[in-house]
Amino acid sequence: MNLPQAFLDRMRERLGENFPAFLASYEGSPHRGLRVNTLKISPEEFARRAPFPLGENVGGDAACFYIGEEKPGADPYHFAGLYYLQEPSAMTAGSMANGLNKRRVLDLCAAPGGKTTHLAQAMAGEGVLIANEVNYARAKILSQNVERMGVANCAVVSASPETLAARFPSYFDLVLADAPCSGEGMFRKEENAIPEWSAENVARCAVRQSAILDEAAKMVASSGHLLYSTCTFAEEEDEWQVEEFLKRHPEFSLVEMRKLYPHTFRGEGHFCALLRKQKGEMLCKKFFPVRKNTQAERAFRAFEEDFFRAPLTGTLHTLADGRMYLVPAGMPDLSGASLLRLGVELGAWDGKIFKPAHALAMAFGKNANRKLSLSRDEAKNFLRGEALQKDFPDGWCAVCVEEFPIGLGKCVGGTVKNHLPKGLRLVKGQ
Ligand code: SAM
Repeated sequence: MNLPQAFLDRMRERLGENFPAFLASYEGSPHRGLRVNTLKISPEEFARRAPFPLGENVGGDAACFYIGEEKPGADPYHFAGLYYLQEPSAMTAGSMANGLNKRRVLDLCAAPGGKTTHLAQAMAGEGVLIANEVNYARAKILSQNVERMGVANCAVVSASPETLAARFPSYFDLVLADAPCSGEGMFRKEENAIPEWSAENVARCAVRQSAILDEAAKMVASSGHLLYSTCTFAEEEDEWQVEEFLKRHPEFSLVEMRKLYPHTFRGEGHFCALLRKQKGEMLCKKFFPVRKNTQAERAFRAFEEDFFRAPLTGTLHTLADGRMYLVPAGMPDLSGASLLRLGVELGAWDGKIFKPAHALAMAFGKNANRKLSLSRDEAKNFLRGEALQKDFPDGWCAVCVEEFPIGLGKCVGGTVKNHLPKGLRLVKGQ
Protein backbone atom coordinates (compact mmCIF):
# COMPACT_ATOMS: atom_id res chain seq x y z
CA MET A 1 0.00 0.00 0.00
CA ASN A 2 1.45 3.32 -1.12
CA LEU A 3 0.91 5.57 1.91
CA PRO A 4 1.94 9.26 1.70
CA GLN A 5 5.39 9.83 3.20
CA ALA A 6 4.22 12.92 5.11
CA PHE A 7 1.46 10.81 6.71
CA LEU A 8 3.96 8.10 7.69
CA ASP A 9 6.33 10.71 9.18
CA ARG A 10 3.52 12.20 11.25
CA MET A 11 2.43 8.76 12.49
CA ARG A 12 6.03 7.78 13.35
CA GLU A 13 6.40 10.91 15.44
CA ARG A 14 3.03 10.38 17.13
CA LEU A 15 3.33 6.66 17.86
CA GLY A 16 7.07 6.33 18.59
CA GLU A 17 7.89 2.73 19.50
CA ASN A 18 4.40 1.61 18.46
CA PHE A 19 4.85 2.84 14.90
CA PRO A 20 6.14 -0.53 13.49
CA ALA A 21 3.04 -2.30 14.82
CA PHE A 22 0.83 0.39 13.27
CA LEU A 23 2.63 0.08 9.93
CA ALA A 24 2.42 -3.72 9.99
CA SER A 25 -1.37 -3.47 10.36
CA TYR A 26 -1.52 -2.24 6.73
CA GLU A 27 -0.38 -5.68 5.57
CA GLY A 28 -3.61 -7.22 6.84
CA SER A 29 -7.01 -6.92 5.15
CA PRO A 30 -9.67 -4.57 6.52
CA HIS A 31 -11.94 -5.83 9.28
CA ARG A 32 -15.63 -6.00 8.48
CA GLY A 33 -18.56 -5.89 10.85
CA LEU A 34 -22.30 -6.36 11.11
CA ARG A 35 -24.67 -4.95 13.71
CA VAL A 36 -27.86 -6.91 14.33
CA ASN A 37 -30.91 -4.63 14.29
CA THR A 38 -32.36 -5.24 17.73
CA LEU A 39 -35.47 -3.28 16.69
CA LYS A 40 -36.34 -6.32 14.55
CA ILE A 41 -34.60 -9.41 15.92
CA SER A 42 -32.50 -10.47 18.91
CA PRO A 43 -28.79 -11.15 18.33
CA GLU A 44 -29.28 -14.77 19.50
CA GLU A 45 -32.12 -15.38 17.03
CA PHE A 46 -30.16 -13.76 14.20
CA ALA A 47 -27.10 -15.88 15.03
CA ARG A 48 -29.30 -19.01 14.75
CA ARG A 49 -30.56 -18.00 11.28
CA ALA A 50 -27.55 -16.23 9.77
CA PRO A 51 -26.83 -17.73 6.32
CA PHE A 52 -23.13 -16.83 6.60
CA PRO A 53 -20.67 -17.30 9.47
CA LEU A 54 -20.60 -14.71 12.26
CA GLY A 55 -17.31 -14.13 14.05
CA GLU A 56 -16.70 -12.86 17.56
CA ASN A 57 -18.62 -9.98 19.08
CA VAL A 58 -17.12 -6.52 18.53
CA GLY A 59 -16.08 -4.78 21.75
CA GLY A 60 -18.16 -7.16 23.85
CA ASP A 61 -21.43 -5.87 22.33
CA ALA A 62 -23.82 -8.82 21.86
CA ALA A 63 -25.41 -7.23 18.74
CA CYS A 64 -22.14 -6.47 16.92
CA PHE A 65 -20.17 -9.16 15.07
CA TYR A 66 -17.06 -9.47 12.96
CA ILE A 67 -17.81 -11.03 9.59
CA GLY A 68 -15.63 -12.50 6.83
CA GLU A 69 -15.33 -11.79 3.14
CA GLU A 70 -18.98 -12.49 2.24
CA LYS A 71 -21.01 -9.72 0.66
CA PRO A 72 -24.25 -9.88 2.68
CA GLY A 73 -25.65 -6.61 1.25
CA ALA A 74 -27.82 -8.50 -1.27
CA ASP A 75 -29.22 -11.02 1.21
CA PRO A 76 -33.02 -10.94 1.84
CA TYR A 77 -32.31 -10.49 5.57
CA HIS A 78 -30.43 -7.28 4.71
CA PHE A 79 -33.47 -6.03 2.74
CA ALA A 80 -35.59 -6.93 5.76
CA GLY A 81 -33.40 -4.61 7.86
CA LEU A 82 -32.21 -7.36 10.19
CA TYR A 83 -28.66 -5.93 10.17
CA TYR A 84 -26.48 -2.99 9.20
CA LEU A 85 -23.00 -3.51 7.76
CA GLN A 86 -20.67 -1.30 9.77
CA GLU A 87 -16.93 -1.03 10.16
CA PRO A 88 -16.18 -2.46 13.64
CA SER A 89 -14.39 0.53 15.19
CA ALA A 90 -17.23 2.84 14.05
CA MET A 91 -19.49 0.89 16.43
CA THR A 92 -17.70 2.55 19.37
CA ALA A 93 -19.63 5.83 19.15
CA GLY A 94 -23.00 4.08 19.44
CA SER A 95 -21.86 2.03 22.41
CA MET A 96 -20.49 5.16 24.16
CA ALA A 97 -24.01 6.60 23.98
CA ASN A 98 -25.38 3.71 26.06
CA GLY A 99 -26.61 4.83 29.46
CA LEU A 100 -26.97 8.50 28.42
CA ASN A 101 -30.28 10.34 28.48
CA LYS A 102 -31.68 9.97 24.93
CA ARG A 103 -35.13 11.53 24.97
CA ARG A 104 -34.11 14.02 22.27
CA VAL A 105 -31.19 13.08 20.07
CA LEU A 106 -29.58 14.78 17.08
CA ASP A 107 -27.17 13.06 14.71
CA LEU A 108 -25.75 16.12 12.99
CA CYS A 109 -23.60 14.51 10.24
CA ALA A 110 -25.60 11.36 9.73
CA ALA A 111 -25.29 9.86 6.21
CA PRO A 112 -25.25 7.04 5.33
CA GLY A 113 -26.75 6.21 8.73
CA GLY A 114 -24.50 3.75 10.55
CA LYS A 115 -24.50 5.70 13.78
CA THR A 116 -28.08 6.97 13.39
CA THR A 117 -29.43 3.44 13.21
CA HIS A 118 -27.15 2.36 16.07
CA LEU A 119 -28.55 5.21 18.23
CA ALA A 120 -32.08 4.25 17.15
CA GLN A 121 -31.49 0.72 18.44
CA ALA A 122 -30.30 2.08 21.78
CA MET A 123 -33.41 4.30 21.95
CA ALA A 124 -35.66 1.25 21.29
CA GLY A 125 -38.49 3.36 19.86
CA GLU A 126 -38.53 5.83 22.78
CA GLY A 127 -37.92 9.57 22.38
CA VAL A 128 -37.21 11.46 19.19
CA LEU A 129 -34.19 11.14 16.91
CA ILE A 130 -33.36 13.79 14.31
CA ALA A 131 -30.93 12.56 11.66
CA ASN A 132 -29.42 15.40 9.66
CA GLU A 133 -27.22 15.31 6.59
CA VAL A 134 -26.22 18.56 4.89
CA ASN A 135 -25.65 16.89 1.50
CA TYR A 136 -29.12 16.22 0.08
CA ALA A 137 -28.10 13.30 -2.17
CA ARG A 138 -26.48 11.59 0.83
CA ALA A 139 -29.52 12.44 2.99
CA LYS A 140 -31.64 10.33 0.60
CA ILE A 141 -29.41 7.29 1.25
CA LEU A 142 -29.64 7.99 4.98
CA SER A 143 -33.41 8.11 4.69
CA GLN A 144 -33.50 4.75 2.88
CA ASN A 145 -31.40 3.14 5.59
CA VAL A 146 -33.63 4.55 8.33
CA GLU A 147 -36.61 3.09 6.46
CA ARG A 148 -34.98 -0.33 5.88
CA MET A 149 -34.08 -0.59 9.56
CA GLY A 150 -37.72 0.17 10.53
CA VAL A 151 -36.93 3.17 12.73
CA ALA A 152 -40.25 4.80 13.67
CA ASN A 153 -39.14 7.65 15.95
CA CYS A 154 -36.84 9.48 13.54
CA ALA A 155 -37.08 12.49 11.26
CA VAL A 156 -34.50 12.76 8.47
CA VAL A 157 -33.63 16.32 7.52
CA SER A 158 -31.09 18.10 5.37
CA ALA A 159 -29.81 21.41 6.73
CA SER A 160 -26.57 23.12 7.63
CA PRO A 161 -25.45 22.92 11.27
CA GLU A 162 -25.98 26.72 11.47
CA THR A 163 -29.63 26.42 10.37
CA LEU A 164 -30.34 23.73 12.94
CA ALA A 165 -28.50 25.57 15.71
CA ALA A 166 -30.67 28.65 15.13
CA ARG A 167 -33.77 26.44 15.38
CA PHE A 168 -32.79 24.27 18.37
CA PRO A 169 -30.90 26.25 21.04
CA SER A 170 -30.17 24.07 24.11
CA TYR A 171 -32.60 21.41 22.95
CA PHE A 172 -31.03 17.94 22.61
CA ASP A 173 -30.02 15.57 25.42
CA LEU A 174 -27.44 14.14 23.04
CA VAL A 175 -25.85 15.58 19.90
CA LEU A 176 -23.60 13.31 17.87
CA ALA A 177 -21.15 15.10 15.56
CA ASP A 178 -19.47 12.41 13.45
CA ALA A 179 -17.62 15.03 11.50
CA PRO A 180 -16.21 14.88 7.98
CA CYS A 181 -12.48 14.24 8.42
CA SER A 182 -9.27 13.46 6.58
CA GLY A 183 -10.17 9.75 6.76
CA GLU A 184 -6.81 8.32 7.79
CA GLY A 185 -8.67 5.33 9.19
CA MET A 186 -10.14 4.57 5.74
CA PHE A 187 -6.89 3.80 3.91
CA ARG A 188 -7.12 -0.01 4.20
CA LYS A 189 -10.80 -0.06 3.33
CA GLU A 190 -10.87 2.50 0.53
CA GLU A 191 -7.58 2.97 -1.27
CA ASN A 192 -9.10 5.98 -3.09
CA ALA A 193 -8.84 7.88 0.21
CA ILE A 194 -5.02 7.71 0.07
CA PRO A 195 -4.32 10.16 -2.78
CA GLU A 196 -6.82 12.60 -1.22
CA TRP A 197 -4.73 12.85 1.94
CA SER A 198 -2.48 15.88 2.52
CA ALA A 199 -1.35 17.87 5.55
CA GLU A 200 -3.26 20.84 4.07
CA ASN A 201 -6.44 18.77 3.98
CA VAL A 202 -5.96 17.79 7.63
CA ALA A 203 -5.75 21.50 8.49
CA ARG A 204 -8.84 22.29 6.36
CA CYS A 205 -10.81 19.49 8.04
CA ALA A 206 -9.81 20.78 11.48
CA VAL A 207 -11.19 24.25 10.69
CA ARG A 208 -14.46 22.75 9.43
CA GLN A 209 -14.74 20.49 12.49
CA SER A 210 -14.31 23.47 14.86
CA ALA A 211 -17.16 25.25 13.09
CA ILE A 212 -19.39 22.13 13.26
CA LEU A 213 -18.59 21.62 16.95
CA ASP A 214 -19.41 25.25 17.78
CA GLU A 215 -22.85 24.85 16.19
CA ALA A 216 -23.36 21.44 17.82
CA ALA A 217 -22.52 22.94 21.24
CA LYS A 218 -25.38 25.45 20.93
CA MET A 219 -27.92 22.64 20.55
CA VAL A 220 -26.94 20.59 23.61
CA ALA A 221 -29.47 20.95 26.44
CA SER A 222 -28.66 21.65 30.05
CA SER A 223 -26.72 18.64 31.45
CA GLY A 224 -26.79 17.05 27.98
CA HIS A 225 -23.96 15.39 26.06
CA LEU A 226 -22.00 16.07 22.90
CA LEU A 227 -20.36 13.06 21.29
CA TYR A 228 -17.68 13.94 18.78
CA SER A 229 -16.14 11.35 16.48
CA THR A 230 -13.88 11.01 13.45
CA CYS A 231 -12.29 8.15 11.53
CA THR A 232 -8.87 9.77 11.47
CA PHE A 233 -5.73 9.77 13.63
CA ALA A 234 -4.56 13.40 13.21
CA GLU A 235 -4.43 15.18 16.58
CA GLU A 236 -5.53 18.43 14.94
CA GLU A 237 -8.86 16.71 14.22
CA ASP A 238 -9.02 14.62 17.39
CA GLU A 239 -7.39 15.36 20.78
CA TRP A 240 -6.32 18.92 19.93
CA GLN A 241 -9.73 19.63 18.45
CA VAL A 242 -11.32 18.65 21.77
CA GLU A 243 -8.75 20.65 23.75
CA GLU A 244 -9.45 23.78 21.70
CA PHE A 245 -13.20 23.21 21.95
CA LEU A 246 -13.01 23.05 25.76
CA LYS A 247 -11.10 26.35 25.79
CA ARG A 248 -13.80 28.00 23.68
CA HIS A 249 -16.63 26.30 25.60
CA PRO A 250 -15.98 26.27 29.36
CA GLU A 251 -19.62 25.22 29.80
CA PHE A 252 -18.50 21.71 28.68
CA SER A 253 -16.27 19.15 30.38
CA LEU A 254 -14.68 15.98 29.03
CA VAL A 255 -16.29 12.72 30.19
CA GLU A 256 -14.37 10.18 28.14
CA MET A 257 -12.09 9.96 25.13
CA ARG A 258 -11.28 6.82 23.10
CA LYS A 259 -8.79 6.45 20.29
CA LEU A 260 -8.70 3.19 18.37
CA TYR A 261 -5.82 2.37 16.06
CA PRO A 262 -5.72 -0.64 13.72
CA HIS A 263 -2.82 -2.07 15.74
CA THR A 264 -4.69 -1.72 19.09
CA PHE A 265 -8.19 -2.74 17.97
CA ARG A 266 -9.54 -5.14 15.31
CA GLY A 267 -10.92 -2.35 13.14
CA GLU A 268 -9.83 0.50 10.89
CA GLY A 269 -9.53 3.10 13.63
CA HIS A 270 -11.76 5.75 15.20
CA PHE A 271 -11.71 8.63 17.63
CA CYS A 272 -14.57 9.46 20.02
CA ALA A 273 -14.86 12.11 22.71
CA LEU A 274 -17.86 12.42 25.02
CA LEU A 275 -18.43 15.90 26.49
CA ARG A 276 -20.99 17.09 28.99
CA LYS A 277 -22.64 20.50 29.19
CA GLN A 278 -23.18 22.02 32.60
CA LYS A 279 -26.64 22.93 33.87
CA GLY A 280 -28.43 25.80 32.11
CA GLU A 281 -31.79 26.76 30.64
CA MET A 282 -33.78 24.68 28.17
CA LEU A 283 -35.05 27.15 25.61
CA CYS A 284 -36.82 25.54 22.67
CA LYS A 285 -40.25 24.02 23.19
CA LYS A 286 -42.03 24.20 19.83
CA PHE A 287 -43.62 20.97 18.63
CA PHE A 288 -44.19 19.80 15.08
CA PRO A 289 -47.39 21.43 13.74
CA VAL A 290 -49.45 18.38 12.88
CA ARG A 291 -51.95 18.77 10.01
CA LYS A 292 -55.21 16.89 10.44
CA ASN A 293 -57.49 15.57 7.69
CA THR A 294 -60.54 13.75 9.00
CA GLN A 295 -61.47 11.98 5.76
CA ALA A 296 -57.91 10.74 5.14
CA GLU A 297 -57.69 9.54 8.73
CA ARG A 298 -60.95 7.65 8.41
CA ALA A 299 -59.65 5.90 5.28
CA PHE A 300 -56.40 5.02 7.03
CA ARG A 301 -58.19 3.69 10.13
CA ALA A 302 -60.30 1.39 7.92
CA PHE A 303 -57.11 0.05 6.31
CA GLU A 304 -55.44 -0.27 9.73
CA GLU A 305 -58.31 -2.28 11.17
CA ASP A 306 -58.10 -4.81 8.35
CA PHE A 307 -54.30 -4.93 8.02
CA PHE A 308 -52.94 -4.79 11.58
CA ARG A 309 -53.51 -6.83 14.70
CA ALA A 310 -53.81 -3.65 16.82
CA PRO A 311 -53.99 0.10 16.15
CA LEU A 312 -50.69 1.97 15.73
CA THR A 313 -49.71 4.57 18.31
CA GLY A 314 -48.64 8.10 17.37
CA THR A 315 -50.21 11.16 15.81
CA LEU A 316 -51.44 11.18 12.21
CA HIS A 317 -50.19 13.97 9.97
CA THR A 318 -51.56 14.45 6.44
CA LEU A 319 -49.88 16.63 3.83
CA ALA A 320 -51.90 18.68 1.35
CA ASP A 321 -51.10 16.08 -1.37
CA GLY A 322 -52.58 13.26 0.77
CA ARG A 323 -49.34 11.63 2.02
CA MET A 324 -49.80 10.47 5.60
CA TYR A 325 -47.27 10.06 8.40
CA LEU A 326 -47.27 8.66 11.91
CA VAL A 327 -45.44 11.23 14.01
CA PRO A 328 -43.91 10.10 17.31
CA ALA A 329 -44.81 12.01 20.47
CA GLY A 330 -42.50 14.95 21.17
CA MET A 331 -41.43 15.57 17.54
CA PRO A 332 -40.18 19.18 17.41
CA ASP A 333 -41.01 21.80 14.81
CA LEU A 334 -38.55 21.18 11.96
CA SER A 335 -39.34 24.17 9.75
CA GLY A 336 -36.27 25.63 8.09
CA ALA A 337 -34.75 22.22 7.27
CA SER A 338 -35.55 20.15 4.16
CA LEU A 339 -37.56 17.27 5.52
CA LEU A 340 -36.97 13.85 3.90
CA ARG A 341 -38.64 11.57 6.42
CA LEU A 342 -40.99 12.26 9.34
CA GLY A 343 -41.60 9.32 11.66
CA VAL A 344 -43.11 6.64 9.42
CA GLU A 345 -44.70 7.35 6.05
CA LEU A 346 -47.95 5.39 6.24
CA GLY A 347 -49.15 5.89 2.68
CA ALA A 348 -51.28 8.26 0.65
CA TRP A 349 -54.95 9.12 0.46
CA ASP A 350 -56.12 10.18 -3.02
CA GLY A 351 -59.50 11.52 -1.94
CA LYS A 352 -61.10 8.07 -2.20
CA ILE A 353 -58.78 5.31 -1.04
CA PHE A 354 -55.74 4.90 1.17
CA LYS A 355 -52.68 3.26 -0.45
CA PRO A 356 -50.01 2.03 2.00
CA ALA A 357 -46.32 2.94 1.68
CA HIS A 358 -43.24 0.69 1.75
CA ALA A 359 -42.08 2.37 5.01
CA LEU A 360 -45.25 1.17 6.76
CA ALA A 361 -44.33 -2.43 5.98
CA MET A 362 -40.72 -1.96 7.10
CA ALA A 363 -41.59 -0.31 10.44
CA PHE A 364 -44.84 -2.03 11.42
CA GLY A 365 -45.29 -5.01 9.07
CA LYS A 366 -44.32 -7.39 11.86
CA ASN A 367 -47.62 -6.50 13.57
CA ALA A 368 -49.72 -7.14 10.45
CA ASN A 369 -52.30 -9.87 10.46
CA ARG A 370 -52.03 -9.97 6.65
CA LYS A 371 -48.52 -11.41 6.37
CA LEU A 372 -47.36 -13.47 3.43
CA SER A 373 -44.36 -15.56 4.46
CA LEU A 374 -41.82 -16.51 1.75
CA SER A 375 -38.80 -18.78 1.77
CA ARG A 376 -35.42 -17.10 1.24
CA ASP A 377 -35.41 -18.17 -2.44
CA GLU A 378 -38.95 -16.92 -3.04
CA ALA A 379 -38.01 -13.67 -1.29
CA LYS A 380 -35.16 -13.17 -3.77
CA ASN A 381 -37.67 -13.42 -6.64
CA PHE A 382 -39.90 -10.87 -4.95
CA LEU A 383 -36.89 -8.59 -4.38
CA ARG A 384 -36.18 -8.78 -8.15
CA GLY A 385 -39.63 -7.28 -8.71
CA GLU A 386 -41.50 -10.46 -9.70
CA ALA A 387 -45.20 -11.06 -9.03
CA LEU A 388 -46.03 -14.19 -7.01
CA GLN A 389 -48.67 -16.87 -7.45
CA LYS A 390 -50.04 -17.54 -3.96
CA ASP A 391 -53.19 -18.77 -2.35
CA PHE A 392 -53.78 -15.66 -0.23
CA PRO A 393 -56.94 -13.62 0.46
CA ASP A 394 -57.39 -10.58 -1.82
CA GLY A 395 -55.99 -7.25 -0.63
CA TRP A 396 -52.76 -5.76 0.70
CA CYS A 397 -50.21 -7.93 2.49
CA ALA A 398 -46.86 -7.49 4.22
CA VAL A 399 -44.56 -9.71 2.14
CA CYS A 400 -41.98 -11.32 4.43
CA VAL A 401 -38.84 -13.40 4.24
CA GLU A 402 -39.94 -15.97 6.80
CA GLU A 403 -41.63 -13.60 9.30
CA PHE A 404 -39.60 -10.44 8.50
CA PRO A 405 -41.27 -7.87 6.19
CA ILE A 406 -39.43 -6.87 3.01
CA GLY A 407 -42.22 -4.94 1.29
CA LEU A 408 -45.86 -4.78 0.27
CA GLY A 409 -47.84 -6.87 -2.15
CA LYS A 410 -51.44 -6.71 -3.30
CA CYS A 411 -53.20 -9.98 -3.92
CA VAL A 412 -55.93 -10.31 -6.56
CA GLY A 413 -57.27 -13.77 -7.42
CA GLY A 414 -54.12 -15.67 -6.40
CA THR A 415 -51.59 -13.24 -7.96
CA VAL A 416 -49.59 -11.05 -5.58
CA LYS A 417 -48.62 -7.85 -7.39
CA ASN A 418 -45.20 -6.54 -6.40
CA HIS A 419 -45.20 -3.07 -4.75
CA LEU A 420 -41.50 -2.93 -3.90
CA PRO A 421 -40.22 0.52 -4.94
CA LYS A 422 -38.20 0.14 -8.16
CA GLY A 423 -35.07 1.78 -6.72
CA LEU A 424 -34.92 -0.80 -3.91
CA ARG A 425 -35.05 -3.95 -6.06
CA LEU A 426 -32.26 -6.45 -6.50
CA VAL A 427 -30.43 -5.73 -9.70
CA LYS A 428 -29.21 -8.29 -12.24
CA GLY A 429 -26.35 -10.44 -10.96
CA GLN A 430 -27.16 -9.89 -7.26
N1 SAM B 1 -22.28 9.30 10.80
C1 SAM B 1 -22.22 8.67 9.51
C2 SAM B 1 -22.37 7.19 9.67
O1 SAM B 1 -22.07 6.65 10.73
O2 SAM B 1 -22.85 6.52 8.72
C3 SAM B 1 -20.97 9.06 8.75
C4 SAM B 1 -20.81 10.55 8.63
S1 SAM B 1 -19.47 11.08 7.61
C5 SAM B 1 -18.11 10.72 8.59
C6 SAM B 1 -19.59 12.81 7.73
C7 SAM B 1 -20.78 13.44 7.04
O3 SAM B 1 -20.73 14.85 7.26
C8 SAM B 1 -20.83 13.24 5.54
O4 SAM B 1 -22.02 12.59 5.18
C9 SAM B 1 -20.77 14.65 4.97
O5 SAM B 1 -21.61 14.84 3.84
C10 SAM B 1 -21.23 15.51 6.12
N2 SAM B 1 -20.68 16.90 6.04
C11 SAM B 1 -19.78 17.40 5.17
N3 SAM B 1 -19.55 18.70 5.43
C12 SAM B 1 -20.32 19.04 6.46
C13 SAM B 1 -20.53 20.25 7.17
N4 SAM B 1 -19.86 21.35 6.87
N5 SAM B 1 -21.40 20.23 8.19
C14 SAM B 1 -22.06 19.10 8.51
N6 SAM B 1 -21.89 17.93 7.87
C15 SAM B 1 -21.04 17.90 6.87
